[in-house]
Amino acid sequence: MSRSFLPISGFELPRFAGVPTFMRLPHLELGEPDISEVSIGFVGVPWDGGTTNRPGARHGPRALRDASTMIRQVHPVSGLNPFEAVNCADLGDVAVNPADVMDTLQRVTSVYQKVIAAGVRPFTAGGDHLVSLPVLRAVAKDKPLGMIHFDAHTDFYNSYFGGYKYTHGTPFRRAVEEGLLDPKKVVQIGIRGTGYDTEDIDFALANGVRLVRIEELFKRGVEDVMAEARDIVGQDAIYVSFDIDGIDPSFAPGTGTPEIGGFNTFEAQQLCRGLSGLNIAACDLVEVSPPFDPSGMTAWVGVSIMFELLCPLAESVAASNS
Ligand code: MN
Ligand code: MN
Repeated sequence: MSRSFLPISGFELPRFAGVPTFMRLPHLELGEPDISEVSIGFVGVPWDGGTTNRPGARHGPRALRDASTMIRQVHPVSGLNPFEAVNCADLGDVAVNPADVMDTLQRVTSVYQKVIAAGVRPFTAGGDHLVSLPVLRAVAKDKPLGMIHFDAHTDFYNSYFGGYKYTHGTPFRRAVEEGLLDPKKVVQIGIRGTGYDTEDIDFALANGVRLVRIEELFKRGVEDVMAEARDIVGQDAIYVSFDIDGIDPSFAPGTGTPEIGGFNTFEAQQLCRGLSGLNIAACDLVEVSPPFDPSGMTAWVGVSIMFELLCPLAESVAASNS
């Protein structure tokens, strides 16, 4: 008998009961024989060693798993059940080394190399935004990817504290330098907030990144901006990265670097729905910091966005299978 990859139904076991896994999916260990049957694997990266301000994102995966047990299966607008469309599973957490940044980067890449080799598209739950870099080192091993990136920040700084290059403000600078991202196919949406200087913005613009500040998003509207984003990335494989601080802190206060004036949760849902039809290689949702989230609201917003991202990711897998 083959294994079911459907989430445990809330009609069989109440959604608040049981051992929490992402979306109530089966938990598989890397190396289990039936991992090759999985199309989308949720992976937690409990890491905040790249954080330069308020820490705590290392607790993100556990809080997100717990909150995700509230998610049901059917999308309210499209009617898609992503879990019926493709096999999804919870692949557990990367065994990070909380005392060593460089060791952790290697550990993350090594796990993701195995995930990719098994034919699984990874959906990462961070962790701070530095985790996108070691993930991209595995996902973009053959050619540079495009990216649609929702965030208050560009994360294109070069270095912090006199030349230190691996923080959550630098992952995409490294990714462009390493040939993991094609900057001309990178779209950043929601950029705002005070800066140290304009070095990150200057780098983005000099390299052809399409940077959509929050003012432009609100002026033009979500649909228009997402239509342009889809045109820019086309049908090439892309990475989708969602930093929870893209959403206004009145909705998602539990994060390391909050910036006022962001999009609301409905606008965030609309942004994710605008990804439909794209060729998505992998997604992440990062920067949920449970110690700054006493109500649990930010984790709930985070997993709700994860479900929204899962739907276009599952469509993308299904399209490539057909
Ligand atoms: Mn970020
Ligand atoms: Mn950010």
